[in-house]
Amino acid sequence: MLCPCHSGQVYKQCCKPLHDGQPAASPQALMRSRYAAFALDKADYLLSSWDARTRPANLEFTQDTQWFSLQIHESAQQGNEGSVRFTARFREGSEWLELTEISRFSLGDDGYWRYLDGNADFHRWQPGRNDLCPCGSEKKFKKCCAR
Ligand SMILES: [Zn+2]
Ligand SMILES: [Zn+2]
Repeated sequence: MLCPCHSGQVYKQCCKPLHDGQPAASPQALMRSRYAAFALDKADYLLSSWDARTRPANLEFTQDTQWFSLQIHESAQQGNEGSVRFTARFREGSEWLELTEISRFSLGDDGYWRYLDGNADFHRWQPGRNDLCPCGSEKKFKKCCAR
C-alpha cells in the first residue's frame, strides 16, 4: 500500500515505522506521519506525537474526512524546535477544504519530535470539473467524485 502521506513510497518504508514507535528523524518526517495518521484514523499516534503542553485530552475524528493531498512548502529545524509549512486538501462530506498551516514541533529529551502548535488557515476549495479527480482515479472530476 502506498503511504497515505502522498510521498509516493510504500507505507511500510515511509510512515509505518513511525506509527510503530520509531522516532521521526526530522520535524518534516513527523509532520508527514501525522498527516498519514489522520488519514488512517490513528488517534493514539496523534496523541502520543503531540507535545504534552498542548495535547488535547482526547481526539475525535469527524466522520467522513477524505484526505487528498499534502504539499510541504518548507521546513526548518533549529536546536530543539522545528517548523513545517504545508498545504493539505481534504473533503468533509460534500465540502472541499484546503488547509494551510505553519506547524511548530519540539524535540523531547527522549529523542522524539512532537507537534507543539500551529496556525491553521482553512479555505473552501473546489476542483475544476474537467480536472483529474483529486481522489487519484485518473478520471475527470465531473465523472468521478463530483457526482
Ligand atoms: Zn508516509
Ligand atoms: Zn474521484
